[in-house]
Amino acid sequence: AAKQAGRGCYCFFDSMTPIGTSAEYGARQALIDALSHDELCCYFQPQYAARGGQMVGVEALVRWECPDRGLLLPHMFMPQAESAGLTDRIDAYVFEQVIALQSQWFTQGIEYPPVAINVSRQRFESDELLDHVRARLKPHHAIVFELLETAFLDNLSDDQLDRITALRALGIGIDLDDFGSGHSSIAALQAVRPDRIKVDQSLVAPLTFRSDQLKTLQLLSQIARLEGVGIVVEGLDASDHLTAINTLDCDVLQGFALKRPMPLDAFEALLRD
Ligand code: C2E
Ligand code: MG
Ligand code: MG
Ligand code: MG
Repeated sequence: AAKQAGRGCYCFFDSMTPIGTSAEYGARQALIDALSHDELCCYFQPQYAARGGQMVGVEALVRWECPDRGLLLPHMFMPQAESAGLTDRIDAYVFEQVIALQSQWFTQGIEYPPVAINVSRQRFESDELLDHVRARLKPHHAIVFELLETAFLDNLSDDQLDRITALRALGIGIDLDDFGSGHSSIAALQAVRPDRIKVDQSLVAPLTFRSDQLKTLQLLSQIARLEGVGIVVEGLDASDHLTAINTLDCDVLQGFALKRPMPLDAFEALLRD
């Protein structure tokens, strides 16, 4: 069946595939092949200053251009990557792509904002992370790591905190992603002292004027002010979101209503504008 379906991806999406070692093996191998055949790429979603509207950042979001299945979103393969222990390799791959791009832009005299990269728990805890970043990061790079509060910041160890401190010393910005979705958000915020918190999309989805959601966001923005960190609101996918958010004190906005994640050529066109 594997050979008939062609190289790659069949086993992720075939609901008839029984769960078992051979399916898992197939999934792992398909991802390893995808990495070695350069089938992964990044889409880019700009982030805009809430006041002023200029592009102040961009998030790199991994995609798999699967020859058999077309363009795959992270939810279609990252869970399998996690079971297969491959998220550190995917994240390292994305990091390499992003710093290579920034080097190109730098050489070409194209101005670019900091690029935010999502960092999985496995990548964060990998022994290679600090050495990799130290070896590759140059002064012209501007990188932010997005750490998921829910994934691993619940109960921060001293080791993890040291690691975050070391990353910052190398010039990496730290954002807490999906902030407010876990049960220890405030503890994580106070322990990590990130540059910014990114409010979880679940707090934004039902956002309308006079809603409770708006009060929650207002509270989070006050917490961000008190703690002296920036606040990014993402998942703004409707124009009433934008209207509602304008009544709040936020720093950075990201969402479909502003710009959808776009392939590299479209993003480069935007940078050149
Ligand atoms: P995230 O880091 O919270 O990324 C934001 C997700 O929300 C992206 O989905 C983005 O396309 C989507 N989004 C942006 N604006 C809107 C909006 O207005 N409305 C709605 N409904 N959605 C919006 P995407 O690209 O499918 O990524 C999903 C998740 O996959 C990310 O959530 C992140 O946790 C993970 N991910 C993406 N790229 C990577 C990566 O390179 N490494 C790792 N470890 N995880 C990644
Ligand atoms: Mg993110
Ligand atoms: Mg997020
Ligand atoms: Mg998320």
